[in-house]
Amino acid sequence: MNIDVIIKNGTVIDGTGMRRRTTDIAIKDDKIVFMNQHIPQNAATIIEAQEMIVAPGFIDIHSHSDFLWLARPESDSKIRDGVTTEICGNCGLSAFPLRGKLLERRSQGLAKYGIVPTWQSATGFYDTAEKAKSSINRAFLVGHGNIRACTLEYENRQPHPHELTHMGSDLEEAMEAGAFGMSSGLIYPPGCYANLHEVAEMCKVVAKYDGFYATHIRNEGNTLAEALTEAIEISKHSGVSLQVSHLKTSGRKNWHKIKDIKMMIDRARDEGVDLTCDRYPYIAAATDLDVILPPWIYEGGTEKEIQRLKDQNTRKLITKEISQEHDDATWHEIMISSVCNDKNKWMEGKRISEIAVLLDKPPLETIFDLLIEEDTRVDIFLFSMCKENLETILGWDFVFVGSDSSLRANQGILHSGKPHPRSYGTFSRVLRKFCLERQLLSEEKAIQKMTGLPAEKAGLDRRGLIKEGYFADITIINPKKVTDKSTFTEPHQYSEGIEYVLVNGKITIAGGKHNGATHGRILRKYR
Ligand SMILES: [Zn+2]
Repeated sequence: MNIDVIIKNGTVIDGTGMRRRTTDIAIKDDKIVFMNQHIPQNAATIIEAQEMIVAPGFIDIHSHSDFLWLARPESDSKIRDGVTTEICGNCGLSAFPLRGKLLERRSQGLAKYGIVPTWQSATGFYDTAEKAKSSINRAFLVGHGNIRACTLEYENRQPHPHELTHMGSDLEEAMEAGAFGMSSGLIYPPGCYANLHEVAEMCKVVAKYDGFYATHIRNEGNTLAEALTEAIEISKHSGVSLQVSHLKTSGRKNWHKIKDIKMMIDRARDEGVDLTCDRYPYIAAATDLDVILPPWIYEGGTEKEIQRLKDQNTRKLITKEISQEHDDATWHEIMISSVCNDKNKWMEGKRISEIAVLLDKPPLETIFDLLIEEDTRVDIFLFSMCKENLETILGWDFVFVGSDSSLRANQGILHSGKPHPRSYGTFSRVLRKFCLERQLLSEEKAIQKMTGLPAEKAGLDRRGLIKEGYFADITIINPKKVTDKSTFTEPHQYSEGIEYVLVNGKITIAGGKHNGATHGRILRKYR
């Protein structure tokens, strides 16, 4: 047999959680064909991997690269962090279906990247995606927010039975086209208007296709336990496999809830709920500034939201509601990460508490005025989590590593604004901080959380392990050098120590450099 690539003398950590071993790996076409302690043959390419860790390519089960990969096929920030497959479409937001107001809003947001959504349906999206090039593989979830917006736009009400049927048929179409499941974002409009019954009905369809349900639960702080209960109930009602997104205890006064949520999850798992979670290795979230507003503000879409923010009486109402939820410490926890208007750019990297002092306005008035000026599009970092809980959560066996971010690049159109550093450094940060420095996790465990476990959860065909017959998605790591470099103030920096990355058997990163290869594939559940 002619072998294309041999990886020699590497320390293989295969993604199952089993102990490392030294073995050679032979690759032909897109597959691992055999493994042996010493492969004597020659191959067209030999990678000398002595003193390196040879792992399955990382699978980012919580990605938001739904659109931006179309602008940057190289997928730089992800592949240079070792990622070979992204699962997009999380938090209720996906690239399909897109119609009406939703399509309008997405098209506006994407114009600056030169991306024009020419599709509306899932089938239309997959057709476009198959024609596009990418350096890494991509699988997709369909967003419950998309499905709801396509039928009900941004109305705050329950769907009529015929509307629920309509939503169900959009979902069926997405699953038929190859989606791996559905996601929800129950804090964002329009997902926040859906009740348990509606989501459970949708999840029955997902379960029928053996897909999974990933949820950004309704609340991650003050009513965290209630929100987690809702997610578990949805899984019990529908039989769907459940993935709780970016598990956290948000807000200082909720940090103690970690023990309760562990008990709740253990109990649900004991009762047979297929419940797993993901988490990024940082204590700040990245989200939209208007998530701190009460959900009724968004009703009817952006124009209505802005009208309400301009009305003095409504402002008083919002202020009253928010003051019950948040104290003054909150204004120090919110850092503006990006705005659109040049005149407000000086606020990027500053906290609301600082900005309010500089403008000599109360913090909430500062927020209302900024949202109006920016057409509600203000990105923030929310420093609301604690390090101890992060370490505890990442240590739990049912928690996988997921970035919760879109790909970026340190050049070109995606080199803009201040993205969360998790876009660049999630996976290498876990290896550096949690394995090598703090020794909270073995590399075997950490790599399993990045590869074998998410692959199994999503049902990816022959990916996520180093195993004969599996696709040759492989990341080769220098354990002495591996580290994240991206920070909140200087985010556009690639990780170091990811020496080689192979995607479908083709070398794409060599000696830490991207060679421009685009052998990534669109993965579909049923093909
Ligand atoms: Zn989310």
